[in-house]
Amino acid sequence: MKRLVVVGNGMAGMACVEQILKYEPTFRITVFGDETHANYNRVMLSSVLAGERSPDEIVINSLDWYRRNEIDLHVGVRIVDVDPVGKTVTGDDGSVTPYDTLLLATGSSAWMPPIKGLDKEGVFTFRTLDDTRALLNRAGPDTEAIVIGGGLLGLEAARGLQVRGCRVTVVHLMGTLMERQLDPSGGRFLMAKMKELGIRVLLGRSTASIRGDHRAEGVELADGEHLDASLVVVAAGIRPNVELARRAGLTVKRGIVVSDFMETSNPDVFAVGECVEHRGVCYGLVAPLYEQGKVLAATISGHRGPAYIGTVQAAKLKIVGVDVFSAGDVADDGAEPVRYEDPSLGVYKKVALRDGKLAGVILVGDTSDSHRYMDWLRSGADLADRRRHLLFPPPSADAGLDVAEMAESATVCGCVGVTKGAIIQAIHERGVNTLSQLKESTRASTGCGSCTSLCQELLRAVAPEFEEEKKKTICACVPFAEDRLRDILRSQKLRSVQEVLEIYGNGVGCEICKPALSYMLDMLWCGDHDEDRSARFINDRVHANIQKDGTFSVVPRIRGGVTSPEELRRIADVAEKYHVPMVKITGSQRIDLLGIKKADLPKVWADLGMPSGQAYTKGVRMVKTCVGTEFCRFGTQHSTAAGIEMERRFEQLYTPHKGKMGAVGCPRNCAEATVKDIGLIGVEGGWQVVVGGAAGKSVRKADLLATVETTEQALEAAELFFQYYRENANYLERTYDFVERLGIEKVRKETVYATETVRAGLLDRLAKSKARSRDAWLEGQAPRHPTQFEPIAVMEKVLA
Ligand SMILES: Cc1cc2nc3c(=O)[nH]c(=O)nc-3n(C[C@H](O)[C@H](O)[C@H](O)COP(=O)(O)OP(=O)(O)OC[C@H]3O[C@@H](n4cnc5c(N)ncnc54)[C@H](O)[C@@H]3O)c2cc1C
Ligand code: SF4
Repeated sequence: MKRLVVVGNGMAGMACVEQILKYEPTFRITVFGDETHANYNRVMLSSVLAGERSPDEIVINSLDWYRRNEIDLHVGVRIVDVDPVGKTVTGDDGSVTPYDTLLLATGSSAWMPPIKGLDKEGVFTFRTLDDTRALLNRAGPDTEAIVIGGGLLGLEAARGLQVRGCRVTVVHLMGTLMERQLDPSGGRFLMAKMKELGIRVLLGRSTASIRGDHRAEGVELADGEHLDASLVVVAAGIRPNVELARRAGLTVKRGIVVSDFMETSNPDVFAVGECVEHRGVCYGLVAPLYEQGKVLAATISGHRGPAYIGTVQAAKLKIVGVDVFSAGDVADDGAEPVRYEDPSLGVYKKVALRDGKLAGVILVGDTSDSHRYMDWLRSGADLADRRRHLLFPPPSADAGLDVAEMAESATVCGCVGVTKGAIIQAIHERGVNTLSQLKESTRASTGCGSCTSLCQELLRAVAPEFEEEKKKTICACVPFAEDRLRDILRSQKLRSVQEVLEIYGNGVGCEICKPALSYMLDMLWCGDHDEDRSARFINDRVHANIQKDGTFSVVPRIRGGVTSPEELRRIADVAEKYHVPMVKITGSQRIDLLGIKKADLPKVWADLGMPSGQAYTKGVRMVKTCVGTEFCRFGTQHSTAAGIEMERRFEQLYTPHKGKMGAVGCPRNCAEATVKDIGLIGVEGGWQVVVGGAAGKSVRKADLLATVETTEQALEAAELFFQYYRENANYLERTYDFVERLGIEKVRKETVYATETVRAGLLDRLAKSKARSRDAWLEGQAPRHPTQFEPIAVMEKVLA
């Protein structure tokens, strides 16, 4: 077998190797990568910086993949020389490796502009996982950060640093942001969005030097102005890595010059990805490298086929809530522009036409139509008869691109170049049923991730059998999938468990379906149903947690973990009076009285005079909080007050499974909000609302639902998710399974990004349920303690 040596373990190199592996084995493959990681999705580094993904989540091919495919991987080894005559490569570890075919996939490096002092400590680039980790180590609350460069990468870096608590200023040389992808108007709309986020942007300013002795203390601009900063990120552009190619004697201009078959000037050497120059173009995006990889793999595996003729470039800004998309040639020269702008909505759209065809498009504030434009760009469609709908789709397709109407040849995943036809084929021929199977099988949705919801829609539309299959019935007593059952209960206006069992079940029910039906009815009718206590679990019937010795545990509600001396005294009195064998501080900032006899429970509740902490039910347990701005010097938000308010809004409501929440004042995350079902994370100028986290039997970092400015907006985002989960999750499905099953994109679309009417509906139903909810312990009792605990009041007193 021939020896193939690949230099560069990045996205292009490995995408090409994946394609090579699809052919009959012709090569023994050796890969060298100077980074110390397995192959990862570089595009997603922005999401890692912004806390939306962990480094583990962006791995494309694990070490096991290399082993399974018998690829000899050398990580942390830089190839420093090529001998094109002896056909060997030399590593910086001294190794000399022979090849028959050499593949250069060396990518790019950050371009360092001529600024004095870039070698100072505290100056970073943003290209690799190590860069991102270094930034994460340095970024923190109140850190002054400067990002040099207002392009796509610079803005993503700026937002990532800001959500980590930094105060960020972007210094950009040009007169508008992202000037390569946007026209001046688009740039101004984007500028307004960045301002709204609280990121300061200086346009038309050039950086002369980095201030400070050995450590960055700020920058000096060319006009003499000084800006303070202890962290400086240089994101001024990229340069193809071509030194090795030069050493190998290859033709190099800006990049390594390649033919339409990715051949270099040496017949044994090929190149792919950001390091190449094809027909005079050096690309800086992933879509071209996948197309190039396919052509290259076919060529070197003896299946030379269609040539690579270049790629329509498209870029999307990956900042949650800032929708920016640009594709094709957006220059005005000779093109016919068609525009729409609404400054109050922050929406700007422009298409540029040439000879009746789409040449380029800019979308700011609303990118829902980006696939439609990509389709027109790629197909070169004649738009003469679609002039009325250039900027807005015809009314029938108002909801965005309807997957059913997409042509089979239309591209769904722009990065990897996967068409609707290829996805349908995978579903039909390879039995693909889930997003992860689709990723594995076609690689769709493994690039920038913006096509994830479209892939899911397609799966839903084309593989309905699977959807039905996956929707399990609760149990044999009621043979319906849960969402079907919810529809039935709603349309037939059924309000009692027994009624449902008699009409749609076996008339009897069991301990599995009865609590589930109880929950569904309570949720559907916002508490206005016929409650049947016998249908509830034992814990719900006695409002306490049964222990292994038959005694019960009592956990009063201590909102946000904030209590008072008076309450503590009462708890102590109760513990003594009822001879409570163990008083325990729980991991959730509460106090657990363990070993109480069933007969004593009502007296204990009455003596405590505190609401139930619902530690026994499928409902909201608690909101764990840190001290936030009230007492902590790092705090950026009132996390304690926000947590208490969140607990107050959600307590006493039933949920499909127990719910644990958290609120922290800054990304130091002292109350572990990132591993809660709902977490509020204070960041400079706002909050991140995260959902679907877990730190129990399953461990999962929560997904980012929204980044908002005010506490009320954060609470509203949490409410939208909470009610959406209540209404759509299967019974006993925790948020981490729910979010994973639906995908965060869909959850966002149907909650925080849903229409005004949908959002109002969710909030209204939540408010109705809340209005009818009752505290199980205090119900029917005259409160023995008239000054029932009011945490906010306590806090106000503390602060006064
Ligand atoms: C933060 C960020 C966000 C991005 N967002 C997007 C986006 O939204 N959409 C999009 O399309 N693209 C985006 N990109 C660009 C995209 O990641 C690149 O186009 C893609 O990674 C290029 O792949 P590549 O394999 O050519 O280069 P790389 O991924 O850079 O891989 C090259 C690898 O080769 C290694 N190497 C280089 N020289 C040697 C040597 N001599 N010996 C051994 N190893 C060597 C490098 O260290 C590197 O690991 C983004 C990039 C970054 C950094
Ligand atoms: S206590 Fe809260 S505000 Fe203070 S460092 Fe921890 S998370 Fe940040």
